[in-house]
Amino acid sequence: MLNGVHFLLTYQCNFGCDHCFLYCGPGTEGVFTFDRLEEIMMDAKAMRSVDNIYFEGGEPFLYYPLLKAGLEAAQDFGFETGVVTNSYWATSVKDAKLWLEPLKKAGLSYIGLSDDPFHYGDQTDTPPKNAHRACQELGINCDYFCIDKPKVESATDRYGEKGEPIVGGSTVFKGRAVEKLVQGLPMKDWQGLTSCTREILDDPNRVHIDPFGNVHVCQGLVIGNVFEQPLSKLMKSFNPEAHPIIGPLMKGGPAQLAREYSIPHQERYVDECHFCYTLRKSLLDEFPQFLSPRQVYGLPN
Ligand code: SF4
Repeated sequence: MLNGVHFLLTYQCNFGCDHCFLYCGPGTEGVFTFDRLEEIMMDAKAMRSVDNIYFEGGEPFLYYPLLKAGLEAAQDFGFETGVVTNSYWATSVKDAKLWLEPLKKAGLSYIGLSDDPFHYGDQTDTPPKNAHRACQELGINCDYFCIDKPKVESATDRYGEKGEPIVGGSTVFKGRAVEKLVQGLPMKDWQGLTSCTREILDDPNRVHIDPFGNVHVCQGLVIGNVFEQPLSKLMKSFNPEAHPIIGPLMKGGPAQLAREYSIPHQERYVDECHFCYTLRKSLLDEFPQFLSPRQVYGLPN
């Protein structure tokens, strides 16, 4: 049952990190309008099951007035709210409070602060640390979001026997991470990649909605468009088995998707997402309404 609507307020970002699964960056297209946000929230409220609204990106603070107005509207509708940010704006604790205080008044319940080597390299005194201190002083719930770089770890079984090396760290291999980070990593046989290990594809409890109206159950995997059909209707009529990509993924993961469409592919992949994302990219022209926008696959729209 759907509880959360996460708006990708914009695909633009002041960074262009190697691990970004949405391929965001300074030149990326797409920004929400306030009217669209309000319209979708009104419909989400009528669904009754939705209780939280998040504003993400890209970097949502790049459109600060829109973010603030969106939070106010979400508060008026009675939603819990969250924001995810790289905190570039938190140049000091005092300045961070200037940005955060109005958002607290606008109803911000929680903020996730991306603080990791992808965003800030070896820097120890990072903007997210300023933002964290400011949140504590203002009484805003917050957490750090930290994605580790992929590293090769040796696996041992319960008898202490060494197995095949595995990939550690918390990088997700979709989007730009596939282009930038998979080289040199240990890979697995494609035939063993038989399930989706990260998302509840048949009954998502949260969806991401982008500025083009796409409703994503995984980055770039779309179940409909809210500019064509309200979210409430779309969720009601969603038939996962009949979805041309989700159907095969539910039956047997990326391996089944490859078989079903006879997609030429490598023998080995880092994990399920690496294989799935690569297969989806080769199906873009066949299923443009379900695999969108193209920029999430590193291609021009
Ligand atoms: S990339 Fe594919 S396997 Fe990975 S979470 Fe998304 S749908 Fe599931």
